[in-house]
Amino acid sequence: MKSYRKELWIDAKSRVAFINITGNVQECLQESGVREGIVLVNAMHITASVFINDDEPGLHQDFRRWLEELAPHEPVSQYLHNRTGEDNGDAHLKRQIMGREVVVAITEGRLDFGPWEQIFYGEFDGKRRKRVLVKIIGE
Ligand code: ZN
Repeated sequence: MKSYRKELWIDAKSRVAFINITGNVQECLQESGVREGIVLVNAMHITASVFINDDEPGLHQDFRRWLEELAPHEPVSQYLHNRTGEDNGDAHLKRQIMGREVVVAITEGRLDFGPWEQIFYGEFDGKRRKRVLVKIIGE
């Protein structure tokens, strides 16, 4: 069995961002040489997500609005977590909703997606460098 591991660095310029990382994961798959197997992609930070959905700007705006309704950033004093001196209580909740990781099947050397599926990094406390782990196992 082959095993491959890589950390992708993400540098979101805004506090909230959705970044399509499908191409990065495909590059990892090429490097791994795996033809049949599984790829795991996870955020390595507890205020960021990795999720699969459509690469459609209107949908991404809908996600932003929906998440902000569920967990508004302001006022930061509404979150007990922010008593630690942080201001990212909302970002932890947003990450929990959007998820930590995705797993995608690898078939004949390709990501075995359904129609329109793309892999996104979701940032909820950005303006600093963060990592995404890509782990591939298979033959
Ligand atoms: Zn925090």
